[in-house]
Amino acid sequence: MKKKKTIIIQDPRLQRVRNTLREILIQAAINKNEKFRGTIAHCAVCNRANQNMTFNPGLKEWYCTECYKLIQDDYKQRKVLRDKGEDYGDFREEFYKTFV
Ligand SMILES: [Zn+2]
Repeated sequence: MKKKKTIIIQDPRLQRVRNTLREILIQAAINKNEKFRGTIAHCAVCNRANQNMTFNPGLKEWYCTECYKLIQDDYKQRKVLRDKGEDYGDFREEFYKTFV
């Protein structure tokens, strides 16, 4: 997958189906001792599996929409601080840019 993609499911019944299927995939991976990094099964940050997800093509990882937005907001805040010449902490712009 080469483009950013967000998958949002509003219907609670479909959310349950999605979450159940994810749990089945997770259990299958655990049983086979496989790593699921980069799949839609878990958010790369919070590790939750029952959320709507956004794919980051730069990192080739899925993030829940909440974590994705938090990272985007953090990037914007750090850029403002940097542009003002203030301390903006550990700022790995190459990482953050993949979330724009
Ligand atoms: Zn998350």
